[in-house]
Amino acid sequence: MKQIKKKICRQCGCKFKPRFKTTEIVCSIPCSIEYAKKQTKKKQDKKLKEINKDVRERKKALKTTSDYLKELQVVFNKWIRLRDEGLNCISCNKPPKKKNAGHYRSVGSCPELRFEPLNVHLQCEYCNTFQHGNLIPYRQNLIKKIGISSVEWLESNHEPKHYSKPELIILKEEYKEKIKNLTK
Ligand SMILES: [Zn+2]
Ligand SMILES: [Zn+2]
Repeated sequence: MKQIKKKICRQCGCKFKPRFKTTEIVCSIPCSIEYAKKQTKKKQDKKLKEINKDVRERKKALKTTSDYLKELQVVFNKWIRLRDEGLNCISCNKPPKKKNAGHYRSVGSCPELRFEPLNVHLQCEYCNTFQHGNLIPYRQNLIKKIGISSVEWLESNHEPKHYSKPELIILKEEYKEKIKNLTK
């Protein structure tokens, strides 16, 4: 009889001699069942991955400029809180229990300055939310922090700003990078 070359079972890794066909890839029936199961699972996982990717892409396509603005604001505000880490609340000058990033000129009244670093500072939640920004002491302390000319610049009129989606995505990435650098 011709010497049959031993093969390596794709399921269990043992060396085996093919009994019927030289194309056999597994050593036994149990191994062939397990191997088939594994192949089915692989196919399903691949399909699932494709579906998930599709869902992600559809979601991305549905995102509006306003969604991107909100996402950037979250990241920008986080960066402000880290930039001002260790400082007191810009308004009441106490260590903030709950840290907020407080806009001097609010997003609603002056959207042009919503991502202006000079316009946003660490503030306690009490001053930011319940005192509506507590703006009188905010102004006094802001003058001390950034100087009267910068405060007057913030208080002047600003050109309307229109961000495109790619611009907002890039800005978000930039602030994420800044956060990374501050938390290193
Ligand atoms: Zn086997
Ligand atoms: Zn405060």
